[in-house]
Amino acid sequence: MKLDAKALRYMTNEDFRVLTAVETGSRNHEIVPVTLITDIAKLRAGGVKKYLGDLAKRNLVSRMANAKYDGYRLTYGGYDYLALKTLSKRDSVVSVGNQIGVGKESDIYVVAGSDGNQCVLKLHRLGRLSFRNVKNKRDYLRRKQSPSWTYMSKLSAMKEYAFMQVLYEHGFPVPKPIDHNRHCVVMELIDAFPLRQIDDVKDPGKLYSELMDLIVRLAQHGLIHCDFNEFNILVGDDGKPILIDFPQMVSTSHPNAEEYFNRDVECIRVFFKRRFQYESYLYPKFRKDTKREFSLDVKVAASGFTAEQQNLLESYMEEISEKNPEINDDSDEDEDEDEDDEEEEESDAESGKDDSQEKHSSDERASCKNTH
Ligand code: ADP
Ligand code: MG
Repeated sequence: MKLDAKALRYMTNEDFRVLTAVETGSRNHEIVPVTLITDIAKLRAGGVKKYLGDLAKRNLVSRMANAKYDGYRLTYGGYDYLALKTLSKRDSVVSVGNQIGVGKESDIYVVAGSDGNQCVLKLHRLGRLSFRNVKNKRDYLRRKQSPSWTYMSKLSAMKEYAFMQVLYEHGFPVPKPIDHNRHCVVMELIDAFPLRQIDDVKDPGKLYSELMDLIVRLAQHGLIHCDFNEFNILVGDDGKPILIDFPQMVSTSHPNAEEYFNRDVECIRVFFKRRFQYESYLYPKFRKDTKREFSLDVKVAASGFTAEQQNLLESYMEEISEKNPEINDDSDEDEDEDEDDEEEEESDAESGKDDSQEKHSSDERASCKNTH
């Protein structure tokens, strides 16, 4: 969905009050009754219906005609507006520029911050895909209503920001987090391309080691990225990798930690082989190479992102990657280049295998992709 920056300019105080009232009402109602919107907005001169009509024309709310009562719900556009209004009040976003990315669950824009500096605005858009089972996990929320797309998107942004902050503070190569509100995260714009778009690197072996070191260092700090792939690694002119995209990160205490860790490692191995014809028998092993030295996972939990929220988001992530495999399938022109990978599997296994390293089975390669 495109961010309609123009809609932001033409908004009266009354429009804003009514839009905010729809958002407030959505906490307890999937479709917010007009009577409730009127109560919350408390407009002196009345006229809530007219404002709702105007907001609906601008796609900031939508009228639910078939409902048992006359009601409205917030649209992505309306939620975008409310977040941007807050971010601009705080001077974190002064103007919105071009869209530079469309993920399956996010839209990425270049924006200008208070000092005119270019930054990145990531709008999380969970709920584009169905999440029926997640609705069944509503006991996590201890309320009758199923989690809304606004809530899920907000959780995802909260999580991303919390992880980015902790990683940045501990010297990991990630964008500097700047601000967040609702489903939006503002961060440093990295002047680099995703590894996916890079055909040549000066020294693939060096980059490979740096990436494996990064996976290990994360694990030593109690974390696994879980989507450590060529889409989420940006590489600049200096050849240094920067890691992005954190909503699916987990703690190394997660029951599937080993599997997730191996999948991240395998993603890099497969990609380097395909893209750079680079293969190494040195690669980290979860049990041997990841002695915990710090507990950033605990720090993130302390930042206010609760285990309950983590569980809910995780069920969602699991469900969408199971249910929408075609979306996770990044197959394109270079996907079939090495169909015979498996045959080469054992051919030179004996050559200098390090004690602390282990080779994965080819089956694991299939599970390399998660989200991107
Ligand atoms: P998604 O969760 O949808 O995969 P990402 O955070 O991976 O979203 O971002 C999608 C794309 O947007 C990235 O592959 C990258 O090209 C671009 N991008 C995201 N964040 C930044 C950033 N901080 N600086 C530069 N480009 C970015
Ligand atoms: Mg990504």
